[in-house]
Amino acid sequence: NKRIAVLTSGGDAPGMNACIRAIVVASEGKGHSVIGFEHGYNGLLSADWRKLDSKKVHNIIQRGGTILRSARCKEFKEEASARLAAKHLDELAIDALLVIGGDGSFHGARHLANYWNGDVIGLPGTIDNDIYGTDATIGYYTAIETAMDSIDKVRDTADAFERIFLVEVMGRHAGFLGACAAIAGAANYVILPELFKDTQTTLDNIHQQLAIHRQRYGHESFIIVLTENLWPAGISDLATQLETLTGGEVRPVTLGHIQRGGSPVSQDRMLATLLGVHAVKCVEEDKSGIMVGVHNNEPVEIPLEQTWENKKALSSPLTHTMLTMLNERHHWGLG
Ligand code: ATP
Repeated sequence: NKRIAVLTSGGDAPGMNACIRAIVVASEGKGHSVIGFEHGYNGLLSADWRKLDSKKVHNIIQRGGTILRSARCKEFKEEASARLAAKHLDELAIDALLVIGGDGSFHGARHLANYWNGDVIGLPGTIDNDIYGTDATIGYYTAIETAMDSIDKVRDTADAFERIFLVEVMGRHAGFLGACAAIAGAANYVILPELFKDTQTTLDNIHQQLAIHRQRYGHESFIIVLTENLWPAGISDLATQLETLTGGEVRPVTLGHIQRGGSPVSQDRMLATLLGVHAVKCVEEDKSGIMVGVHNNEPVEIPLEQTWENKKALSSPLTHTMLTMLNERHHWGLG
């Protein structure tokens, strides 16, 4: 029987609890034991852990956040930290460490594997979906839902005042969340990192798109979705520039951390469960240095390095068609 440890690291995402639960329940069913380290890699360094069993993970599948807490831990990049973590894991006779997090957290897992003989396995948990090797990441679907709901609400007020609204969504440096929120929320324009040329081209495109919109519908509301970290001088600058350009009021709305919260939608719970159960299977097979992901609804395994050496592409024929519908005058250059 295996002794398994789990931690959640980096930005928290809805569904991390569902994943912890799946790992614990699947392990228990096979006679393995599980402990959880608190506060990401910090818990590995301070040996802050607790035993997890099915009773402890009862009634958490629907809860956002993570019962183990998440954190950043800068010093984990150092060799001494990895050695200390390895020492603590050995003292606890752990066979495998499962890390639920984003690509930063996978770097951490890989780093630890250089100094520890146990198995390390990553599970993708981030609302940004920016991890190569998996169709989706835990938390992504819930974040789309939250952003879409917010766009719906913004539209109600935008319609009432016939205003232009700018909605900034998360995504770090990837447009998955922005693209899906814009498509599902029927935004009128979307600005994504994968398709961004420069500020002037974007302003020109929006201006054209707005003219078409006004000709067709009169002075109706117009909603633009923008991915965070993209507009060089920030969302307020874009709003000001658009006000100058259009002569109308432009209201910026930053959704921020509400996109990280909330009860996970069913797709995130299913994904978290699939990945958790598969990770336990990988532990039984003594696999290490891999991330478990999903492709076409089937679990897949890929080396951790590949998750950051490759960049996941936003483009697909379907996304292309849907995005073209949104920004009709824009030449996307998508494949
Ligand atoms: P998200 O993208 O959702 O924020 P993430 O896992 O990418 O999640 P990061 O803050 O990049 O979040 O990384 C989380 C933690 O992983 C860091 O605080 C650090 O402890 C560890 N980590 C990141 N990069 C490395 C590295 N190169 N070596 C060792 N540890 C690392």
